[in-house]
Amino acid sequence: MSEKKAFKAESKRLLEMMINSIYTHKEIFIRELISNASDAMDKLYFKSLNENLGLDRSDFHIRLTPDKEAKTLTISDNGIGMTQEELENNLGVIAQSGSLKFKEDIKSGENADKAEDVSVIGQFGVGFYSAFMAAKKVTVKSKAYGADTAYMWSSEGVDGYTVEECEKDGHGTEITLYMKDNTEDEDYEEFLHDYKLRSLVKKYSDYIRYPIKMMSTHRHLKEDAPEDAAEEDKYEEHTEDETLNSMIPLWKKSKSELTDEEYNSFYQEKFFDYSEPLAHIHSKTEGSATYSALLFIPKKAPFDYYSKEFEKGLQLYSNGVLIMDKCADLLPDHFSFVKGLVDSEDLSLNISREMLQHDRQLKIIAKSLERTIKNELKKMLSNDREKYEEFWKAFGLQIKFGIYNGYGMNKELLQDLLLFTSGKDKKPVTLEEYVTGMKEGQDCIYYASGESVERIDALPIVESVKDKGYEILYLTDNVDEFCLQMMVDYKEKKFKSVQGGDLDLETEEEKKEIKEKNESSKELCEAIKEALGDKVADVRLTNKLKTHPVCISADGALSVEMEKVLNSMPTDRKAKADKVLEINPNHAIFDKLQFLFDNDKEMLSTYADLLYAQAMLIEGMSIEDPVAFSEELSKVMSK
Ligand code: ADP
Ligand code: MG
Repeated sequence: MSEKKAFKAESKRLLEMMINSIYTHKEIFIRELISNASDAMDKLYFKSLNENLGLDRSDFHIRLTPDKEAKTLTISDNGIGMTQEELENNLGVIAQSGSLKFKEDIKSGENADKAEDVSVIGQFGVGFYSAFMAAKKVTVKSKAYGADTAYMWSSEGVDGYTVEECEKDGHGTEITLYMKDNTEDEDYEEFLHDYKLRSLVKKYSDYIRYPIKMMSTHRHLKEDAPEDAAEEDKYEEHTEDETLNSMIPLWKKSKSELTDEEYNSFYQEKFFDYSEPLAHIHSKTEGSATYSALLFIPKKAPFDYYSKEFEKGLQLYSNGVLIMDKCADLLPDHFSFVKGLVDSEDLSLNISREMLQHDRQLKIIAKSLERTIKNELKKMLSNDREKYEEFWKAFGLQIKFGIYNGYGMNKELLQDLLLFTSGKDKKPVTLEEYVTGMKEGQDCIYYASGESVERIDALPIVESVKDKGYEILYLTDNVDEFCLQMMVDYKEKKFKSVQGGDLDLETEEEKKEIKEKNESSKELCEAIKEALGDKVADVRLTNKLKTHPVCISADGALSVEMEKVLNSMPTDRKAKADKVLEINPNHAIFDKLQFLFDNDKEMLSTYADLLYAQAMLIEGMSIEDPVAFSEELSKVMSK
């Protein structure tokens, strides 16, 4: 037995820190050890290319051997192996990466041009130690390629390690984990079950380039079993050598090799969706960040999409090895519906979530993905309108929230993706289309909001604006008006609510005329305002109305519709629009008001209440006091 050596002092602390903090799941150790094995084979393959050793890629494989009785799991490879010195340096010094050194040596050496051929994963020098999350003891038998002697490294964790000569056939490395004993909370023995190993390899290491093999036992129904045989005699077990990983990542293939069917079934399997995706985006990017991305736009929003429970994110791979299942930082909220994955060589495998958040590469990738998604949606909008409208139905709301929640910061990015219902033919239009169809001299984009297209269409004010030849956007989602207010304008055309107090559509002459009328009826308006108390901010005469006696509008930025939306949200602060009761001086009611003002102030107050209630109801609002309303109505009717 050789002398026990201590890990270097800082290594001890690092080891403890790492085991407890870098990895969230202990199952990760399988991924780490398999990645190391893959690296070791990459290295030998590379050496073979350069030194004409005549090895073939197909000679390499990784093998998992669980032993339930001994409670060990062995992971072996026939890669480059390690010398005694390498065992000490690579496994005895934490945060020392033989793989990183290997990569750097190639880059600075005479074979730099061949660096493309290797895609070594490791570079951090900590992954190996994750084995101690699940094992109480680890032995590493290794024989370097071309060497005669094999050595065994052995350690029980933080205490230190030993290295001694051992027997081993062939080159490569064989790592044996002596699993920890099960506790009440932790099941370590599950790592010895075929099904568990199979699913972990699928999850994390499906795209390792070398086969990961395991002898697995399957139970089959015997073909010739007699009907009346005992239940257990009907079955036979058979053991076969199984390759657990599929090896070639779909996204590494070129687009021309792939069919829509392949993309679709990949999506359905991987992201558990019954429906095919609406569209896929497959891109490879080189430059400030090198990555491949395979993104999907689902057809329908998941049932919890618009709830707090929904978790956005893309799968993140480093060189085909899964690092994170839902990396939220890769997707902005306004595109949170996108599913898919990103694979980048620029990211390190052993990186914690916290570190990843601050990773510069990740930020660059996220920015570039945002652009890619936007362009794809724009393309869909111009090339396949029907599909885009389907998309919009599912996720349009999220895009509008994106503009609102970003305080307009995402305006440039998102404004051309917006669709609103056109008042003309009740079909969805883009802002661009609206602006193109604008009347000569029109300098605002008009909109009206309400509960439904039908309700908006019936608004008196909408009718008169349309009569003047202006198109109106019909806003029916709660967020719509907030979204447009955040945007302020589109192509220098300001958004303007036809329900606002300052619609300003009259000719100079009309303006003058209504101004005069307002002046001469000043006292009447004031009396009505007084009767209505703090329900309204103003009472005015208007020439906006054709056949209706009254309407409600709002001065200032907060519309009546917005007030309703805000007050339906769970907060204790009440929003209040500056409501204006506008009266049509050409309606018979106006003469009656005039008459009451001169003869019956009490009845005038009742009329004011009733007119206000009418205007609110037309607007789709509820009235504050329905009982008082019906009493007043009865009073007038029975007079
Ligand atoms: P990393 O993979 O980030 O370099 P690890 O802690 O996972 O860090 O491994 C440390 C080093 O140990 C590797 O860089 C490599 O040099 C060596 N090593 C680990 N496993 C093997 C193996 N199966 N075959 C050969 N070398 C290995
Ligand atoms: Mg590693």
